Amino acid sequence: MADEEEEKQIEYLSDGEVFRRNAFILITTMVDLNNLTRQDTSMLVDEILHCLFFLGLINSPPFSPRNLLGDDDDTLEYLENEYPEPFRLYSTQLPRRSPFSCLLDMVVRLYGQEKEDLIKDRLQTVVLQMKERTSSQILFSSTICVSQMCDSCRYYGVSMSTRGRPAGEILVAASCFGYWHRLASDAVMTYYPDKQKKLYFSRNIQLPSNVKCEAFNISEGRPMDPCRSCSDLFGLDTTERKRWAHGGCAEVESLSNLFKEESQVMEQLRPEENVPEENRRRAKMRVFNYLKQELKKFDKFKWDGKIYPDLNPNKI
Ligand SMILES: [Zn+2]
Repeated sequence: MADEEEEKQIEYLSDGEVFRRNAFILITTMVDLNNLTRQDTSMLVDEILHCLFFLGLINSPPFSPRNLLGDDDDTLEYLENEYPEPFRLYSTQLPRRSPFSCLLDMVVRLYGQEKEDLIKDRLQTVVLQMKERTSSQILFSSTICVSQMCDSCRYYGVSMSTRGRPAGEILVAASCFGYWHRLASDAVMTYYPDKQKKLYFSRNIQLPSNVKCEAFNISEGRPMDPCRSCSDLFGLDTTERKRWAHGGCAEVESLSNLFKEESQVMEQLRPEENVPEENRRRAKMRVFNYLKQELKKFDKFKWDGKIYPDLNPNKI
């Protein structure tokens, strides 16, 4: 009874207020963590700013960087001086991944790749803050995935932390071109954007049995079975019936990070089928055209064809 009364007194925030509040939490957390890491991680702060400004621009209602920083002039001035590029490029270049993924990288750099529990705890603290006074999932990831091959390092990934469908779909396409390892982006492009396997491009993967890939709910810590789409992409066993959009789950980022570092996995995967280059180009064009069509919905964004930061592993 007491709980119910307490529940009634919680004043929920509007989704717009939550978007601004959560963007602010992410920015200030990243600036603080950047000061704690021994390595230079300022590029991660730079990246999350660009990403949040872009998501603010395409949000409904849209938010400018100034809106997101709560009209806090000191913070705004500090960030504009330290990180001028995100302010300059958020309305012309696409982010390569979603914001929570930048936070994940920062936390992994802070604690080291082996400290799975510390990493999960720190992300949980941030997610719980971002879930306060709202029932909407805005700018935070619900899932973290940990992948490992035999005794290799642990590689992490989080689910897409966007708000709404166009933003999520845009970031899956941008990650295919600008962030994920080719094996992961090929697997996603096999199904994206039509949710059906392409007849001319079939690059889904059967992970070898010595690769472990486990997902957990960040706020509750409980293990989660892969969804049916992740089972399509990587041959993961599951009893789950849910099917999220291909490419939006934590498994994709985590395995992509493993593929980038553990080249032996490649040898164990079924050999590169004879996919003619022409078919890969066709699959990429399908993704690219869909992306352009989605971006047309936002007249304030004028894409110059680049992804920020411009390190494209699978150039369009
Ligand atoms: Zn999934």
